[in-house]
Amino acid sequence: MSFLADAATMFGRAPRRPTSFSEEAEILHGRKRRAHVTKLLEDARARPPRTTWRNRRWAVLIGVNLLFTISFWLDIQIVEGSLTASRFLGFHLADVYSSLLVILAQRHVAVNLVIGSVTVMILWAVVGGRAYCSWVCPYHLVAELAEKLHLRLAERGIVQDHVFHRGVRTVLWFGFAALALVTASTLFLTLNPIGILSRAVVYGASLALLWVGFLLLFEVVYSRRAWCRYICPIGLTYGVIGAGAPVKVVYHLERCAHEGDCRKVCEVPHVLELTIKGRAEDAEVDIGPDCTRCGMCVDICPTDSLKYEIKGLRDLL
Ligand code: SF4
Ligand code: SF4
Repeated sequence: MSFLADAATMFGRAPRRPTSFSEEAEILHGRKRRAHVTKLLEDARARPPRTTWRNRRWAVLIGVNLLFTISFWLDIQIVEGSLTASRFLGFHLADVYSSLLVILAQRHVAVNLVIGSVTVMILWAVVGGRAYCSWVCPYHLVAELAEKLHLRLAERGIVQDHVFHRGVRTVLWFGFAALALVTASTLFLTLNPIGILSRAVVYGASLALLWVGFLLLFEVVYSRRAWCRYICPIGLTYGVIGAGAPVKVVYHLERCAHEGDCRKVCEVPHVLELTIKGRAEDAEVDIGPDCTRCGMCVDICPTDSLKYEIKGLRDLL
């Protein structure tokens, strides 16, 4: 898929079926499932589920968030502030979308916010923007736990997932920005569960946690991962920033059994539609910029068709 097609998919367009295929992909699509892929599939079904990347990710996410707390309580000033705006060893760091809203609302460009945002943009442009979501964002962690509960209840027919158009997130991105510019209000920052949780982790609980509880309840009983899938402009911003990042999850058609386990665990399953038989236009395809690099598909894929790769440094990971 081209860069523009990937971007359009991230902004809300449904993934398109490819109109042409590489020669290698055409041969692979035409083949019946080979014996070694069937064997890999059987072996994977017989072993306990892997959680390697999830464990690493949770350790990093909890570690990053606790660093704020430890630094504050021990007054050692390694990191000061919260995920919305902070200083790491004296260097300014600022969430890019939150900074944009503050600048629009105040109609004033604060130098510290610009320095902090540019530093953060450079970091996530290299690592892969939406890795912020799954490796740092505290809401991701609690939403993952709520999602498990949603899936259990859905399995028993107690709740149902209600799907919205993903384009809503793009509309809200512009909506919150326009609101900040016109009314000088940073409404999104009040509603933002990342800021609420990050401040709670550092400074202690507040009534605002009730709002986070309401969001989680909504996701459990009505719409799976609704905030991250359809609302959060921060996730979209980091998706754009990291669109060309060298750290990717890469799909290998040759190994794929097309059983679709990966799409069932993915927060953004539209990026994995290429794993459906007949959809990948090449033998190896990079997963699109909306991918959070969470590694759930890497862990669950029974035939190791999805792998982390650093472009230009193959097999390092
Ligand atoms: S989409 Fe937003 S709330 Fe969800 S994980 Fe990403 S930054 Fe956090
Ligand atoms: S494609 Fe894989 S790594 Fe990316 S968000 Fe989905 S499950 Fe996570």
